[in-house]
Amino acid sequence: MRTLSMNHFKDARNQVLHQIQVACEQAQRDPATVQLLAVSKTHPDSALREMYQLGQRAFGENYLQEALDKIEALDDLDIEWHFIGHVQRNKTKLLAEKFDWVHGVDRLIIAERLSSQRLQTQPPLNLCIQVNIDHQDSKDGCQPEDVAQLVEEISQLPQVRLRGIMVIPAPDQITAFTDAKQLFEQVKSHHQQPQDWDTLSMGMSGDLQQAIAAGASIVRIGTALFGARDYAKP
Ligand SMILES: *Cc1c(COP(=O)(O)O)cnc(C)c1O
Repeated sequence: MRTLSMNHFKDARNQVLHQIQVACEQAQRDPATVQLLAVSKTHPDSALREMYQLGQRAFGENYLQEALDKIEALDDLDIEWHFIGHVQRNKTKLLAEKFDWVHGVDRLIIAERLSSQRLQTQPPLNLCIQVNIDHQDSKDGCQPEDVAQLVEEISQLPQVRLRGIMVIPAPDQITAFTDAKQLFEQVKSHHQQPQDWDTLSMGMSGDLQQAIAAGASIVRIGTALFGARDYAKP
């Protein structure tokens, strides 16, 4: 499938907003407590510009160089940029300087580098700890039992603001969202500044309803907004 046209984008975005609203009604939640993050990896600048014109402000990207090109090309827009890809230790400087949020922090060293590389003139960088909530066979994400210690340490860093947890469970892991919510609440109950711990980033195009039911505060939606991704032709 090719990138969809403006009218398609409008319909797609309205449909996703409607899905969020229905999921919130079912869960007896206020729709204002769920932020739609438009995941735009592989899609061209023009697609982001069109989504922006429809009112979308927060965009998520996975690949650093691709994201940097878009950030430069869309410099005239007031976009909130989220990095949702895997964070490599030697790429933290550009993440620290160019993004508003980094979701995939899973080690202290990454947070330390982001904090020291964030410019003094910028507001603190928002972070989420990526947790391997369903014990996937993957290097990404810390273990649930390591979260409390990481929160304590990252919370001391001056130029970052630790906001919560990000998870990417496998599609068949039906308890993963409620497990993530439980972990989130457990951390909040011990947090020194519980008002700063406000973000649960989970849910994609295929499972946003379940994620919202469990308490997601950011849903990361790509395919349902932009159409299928063509990795051969970014
Ligand atoms: C690509 C991606 C998404 C969006 O997935 P869709 O199924 O296209 O909605 C969300 N989160 C992360 C971390 C991703 O890499």
